[in-house]
Amino acid sequence: MESKEFINLEDRFGAKNYKPLDVVLSRGEGIWVWDVDNNKYLDCLSAYSAVNQGHCHPKIYKAMMDQAQKLTLTSRAFRNDQLPLLYEQLCKLTDSHKMLPMNSGAEAVETVIKCARKWGYESKGVADGQAEIIVCNDNFHGRTLSIIGFSTDENARQNFGPFTPGFKTIPFGDAKALEQAIGPDTVAFMVEPVQGEAGVIIPPRGYLQKVRRICTQNNVLLILDEIQTGLGRTGKLLAEEHDGIQADLTLIGKALSGGFYPVSAVLSNEAVLGLLQPGQHGSTFGGNPLACAVARASLKVLLEENMIENAEKMGAYFLAELKKIQHHSIKEVRGIGLMIAIELEEGTSARAICNSLMKMGILCKETHTCIIRFAPPLIIKKEDIDWAVDQIKTIFA
Ligand SMILES: *Cc1c(COP(=O)(O)O)cnc(C)c1O
Repeated sequence: MESKEFINLEDRFGAKNYKPLDVVLSRGEGIWVWDVDNNKYLDCLSAYSAVNQGHCHPKIYKAMMDQAQKLTLTSRAFRNDQLPLLYEQLCKLTDSHKMLPMNSGAEAVETVIKCARKWGYESKGVADGQAEIIVCNDNFHGRTLSIIGFSTDENARQNFGPFTPGFKTIPFGDAKALEQAIGPDTVAFMVEPVQGEAGVIIPPRGYLQKVRRICTQNNVLLILDEIQTGLGRTGKLLAEEHDGIQADLTLIGKALSGGFYPVSAVLSNEAVLGLLQPGQHGSTFGGNPLACAVARASLKVLLEENMIENAEKMGAYFLAELKKIQHHSIKEVRGIGLMIAIELEEGTSARAICNSLMKMGILCKETHTCIIRFAPPLIIKKEDIDWAVDQIKTIFA
């Protein structure tokens, strides 16, 4: 079947909640993907950082196939021989006391909201129904009703109400605003270490340190949504390490499965996840043996193959090379690790540039109208970056 036919089928039968570039992919390997006409592209989105380990990593693939032959799903009504191993591996790796497995990122966010509220009532002594969680403007935490209720993106919210109460928004990167917003019923502050969907917005240096201090002083939980920034993307296992802090609760997802399967997790200190009692939260697929085997292999290759160090080194190189491109339509080039963005001057269409990049063999997706994100798999090499920068230069020339 031809590319056009796939596109027609999708447009005819699919809900139009996405506006994909017109490229129909059928194969992937490492940093590369191929379309149905066998054109090759450098993937500079990595499925929003779910494919940090590269497409179809052979070791994750093998772990998945091996496990799929043995046991895929038991439900949590019974124990399985994979989940305890993932618990141990993740808790040791991230210095957490406990973890709770879910599937999608949004489910991890929903889970952490429930847990933070429960902690507020049972541990902090907030009056029933009064718990408040502070979040940031331009946040992205997923697409469920509760989550979009505290989004500040009108397009994400419009005509989906009524929404879940109990949230307050403050500017991102502004520690003072957090201090002022905290009240007696505040149970948590939830923030992305770097705002991904907002366009790779990096907070002022030391922001998380200040936030950590303010949360501790006020007995408020610090929740870091590292679903995009975590697992090597910013050049550290978790982005919180850049500030040398530890969150009370950390959310990971996306690359936790290397793109093979939806797996997410809430990581926490005992005080919070320890409050959950049987029957109070769950998921049929959460913590299933297939997911756990895939997640364990995904973490293993991330470390074994030094992908985190590579993200740091190659990220710095990519950023420096992109910064050398001089063009009147480029407003700013910024990034941390392999989470990089070019922000264009108003009036320049990021979508049009993404379409041109596609023709040159680079797949990027605009975020908002004027930001292009570059986030290739963490295994990218210097020569691939040199090639990509040449293509990008040609487009701006
Ligand atoms: C992608 C993302 C989510 C939501 O994850 P899904 O798996 O799409 O539900 C939440 N938070 C952040 C920061 C994300 O980037």
